[in-house]
Amino acid sequence: MRLVFLGPPGAGKGTLAKIIAKKDGLPHISTGDLLRANIQAKTDLGKEASQYMDKGELVPDRLVVEMVQKRIAEADAENGFILDGFPRTEPQAKALKEMLRSAGKDLDRVVNFDASDETIIIRLSGRRICSGCGEIYHTKNIPPKAEGICDRCGKQLIQRKDDEEATVRNRLEVYRRQTAPLIEFYRKEGLLENIPADKDVKELEALVQNLVS
Ligand code: ADP
Ligand code: AMP
Repeated sequence: MRLVFLGPPGAGKGTLAKIIAKKDGLPHISTGDLLRANIQAKTDLGKEASQYMDKGELVPDRLVVEMVQKRIAEADAENGFILDGFPRTEPQAKALKEMLRSAGKDLDRVVNFDASDETIIIRLSGRRICSGCGEIYHTKNIPPKAEGICDRCGKQLIQRKDDEEATVRNRLEVYRRQTAPLIEFYRKEGLLENIPADKDVKELEALVQNLVS
């Protein structure tokens, strides 16, 4: 299965992608995670990308497309993957189509996480991620067993810099302007599946699993 998880920031794409990826044995490819790993490793890509990410802007297409091209060429992605947070612009969607086409492949489904602004703001303001393994929590909705500590690896939970209020507003604006048009793009391609993302994780898991199996 070659899947794309589409939707606004905070809709729950990463949370669901981790669950479905584990269950179905697919690699979870999050461009946000890959970029943050580059920032942590202080690579040239990380240095360039952080200037955009800190402001809630999108990283230029050429950088993200090259990064994804390399990642999906790795052996574990040979028979499928879940792309989370990519594509985010029409040029990225076209580049993805072309890179798959040239390998004789295509996407199977695009799952669009449809969430209200109210849900998005609540989810982003309470999001905490593990500084060690990247596990995603929420202070109220999905809290860790011990406050501020990852259940999985025991490392400290942190708030993402771009989850601060002023940046969140810009990210939603950027989403509406640059990413939301992909809903129509994929509808026309006949790949779009909409799910109401304002539900709890268990319900969403069942909905998504149903769509992708
Ligand atoms: P995205 O990858 O779309 O940006 P995340 O998966 O990081 O979103 O989720 C954003 C926040 O919402 C996190 O704090 C996460 O724990 C929480 N969350 C995710 N899915 C749900 C859900 N179905 N119900 C309640 N909270 C959720
Ligand atoms: P995410 O973890 O998906 O919320 O992404 C965090 C940030 O990384 C975004 O606000 C962008 O700055 C950058 N980013 C992630 N994916 C992409 C992409 N496909 N295109 C451009 N920028 C991206």
